[in-house]
Amino acid sequence: MFSAFLSDFDVFFSRYAKDHNHRNLITHSIIPSAIIIVVGLVFYWPALIISGFAYFMHVVVDMFDWGINLFYFPKKTYGPRLFMSNEEEENLSKILTQYKNGVSFFDFKYYNSKVALIIEALLFILMVFFIIVLAFEYILISLIYFLGLYFHLSRHYHLKKIEAK
Ligand SMILES: [Zn+2]
Repeated sequence: MFSAFLSDFDVFFSRYAKDHNHRNLITHSIIPSAIIIVVGLVFYWPALIISGFAYFMHVVVDMFDWGINLFYFPKKTYGPRLFMSNEEEENLSKILTQYKNGVSFFDFKYYNSKVALIIEALLFILMVFFIIVLAFEYILISLIYFLGLYFHLSRHYHLKKIEAK
């Protein structure tokens, strides 16, 4: 479970990433999960192998909204990037200059999308359902969700304030 969101802590190292986008860091490529799975296979440690797949699932899911730098070294973004039109994809750097903080473009697109918010709500309901049914003794783990929610909402309102100025 932890390895499924471990990679997003790279957000604290965004300043070292191309375009200051944490998804361009090596932590959002296929490389860490490949290493985790190989180490799990070498030591025949099933929990590590499963963790490697969980890590990889995160990277796969991230391809759908904004895409990721899958193979890291070619510096090319992969994925359907469903939140962006082809036009936006081509002119992205120009569009980002229209914002005081480039992150606002991605943030506002997400929170203005009804589909994204419905999926978000459905995933929350599914999470609670599956924890109650399958692992009720771990129910307190769902508190981590609210930490993440607080982080994202406070960033959203912070960005809204900055752009409104
Ligand atoms: Zn991510």
